[in-house]
Amino acid sequence: MPSIEENLKQVTAQLPKGVHLVAVSKFHPVEALQEAYDAGQRLFGENRAQELIAKAPLLPKDIRWHFIGHLQKNKVRAIMPYVSVIESVDSVELLKLIEKEAARIDRSVDVLLQLHVAQEETKSGFSVDEVMAAGEAGELTCYPHINVCGVMAMASLTDDMEQVAQEFDLVRRTYVMLKDGPFDESEHFNHLSMGMSDDWPVAVKYGATLVRIGTAIFGAREY
Ligand SMILES: *Cc1c(COP(=O)(O)O)cnc(C)c1O
Repeated sequence: MPSIEENLKQVTAQLPKGVHLVAVSKFHPVEALQEAYDAGQRLFGENRAQELIAKAPLLPKDIRWHFIGHLQKNKVRAIMPYVSVIESVDSVELLKLIEKEAARIDRSVDVLLQLHVAQEETKSGFSVDEVMAAGEAGELTCYPHINVCGVMAMASLTDDMEQVAQEFDLVRRTYVMLKDGPFDESEHFNHLSMGMSDDWPVAVKYGATLVRIGTAIFGAREY
C-alpha cells in the first residue's frame, strides 16, 4: 500500500495552481496526521467537534483546521480556539452564533456557506433559494468578526459523474451570483470548496479552489 506521503504527492501533483488540498483526517489517529504534516501538509479537515478538540492540542500549532461537518450550536464555543475555517455554515442562526463567540474571544473567523445540492436529504446546507434570499435580506454580510470566504458543497453519492457535474455547476453558478450580488464588495469571497476522493477532478473542472480529500490520502476509515 502506498504511504500517506506518496498519496499526498500523487494528489497534489494533479492539482492546478490555486487549488488547495484540505486533508480530511476524520477517524484517523494523530500519528497519521503527523505523517501528513511531516510530508508538508498544513490544511486538515475534521467533521466532529469532539475529535477536533481532542486532536488539535496534540499536533503542531501551524496546522490550519477546517471544520467540515454539521456544527451543533452548543459546540461553536469549544471549537473556536482551534478552527481556522468553518466550511459548513448551514443557517443564519449559526452565523449569528459564530459572530457572538468570535467577538467574545476577540478574533475573526473565516467561514464558507454550505449549499445543499445533492439528492440525499440527510446532507445539510442552504438551498440555492435560501442562500440568495438571505443574501438579499442582508443576513449574510453583517458580521464584524466573520469573513465569509465563499461556498462549500457535497455532490450526491453516485457513480453518475454527469449528475455530479450538474451539481458542481449549480454550486459554481450560485457562488458567482453571490459574488456578484451580496458579496460584490467583499475581498474575502473567493473560494469554492467542493470535491472529495471520488469526484474531485470533476469539481476542479467546475472551479473548485479547495478540495476535501480523505480516503485517497489516509485510506479507508474504520467507523
Ligand atoms: C469525509 C468528508 C470528505 C472526504 O471524503 P473522502 O471520500 O474520504 O475523500 C469531504 N467532505 C466532507 C464534508 C466530509 O465529511
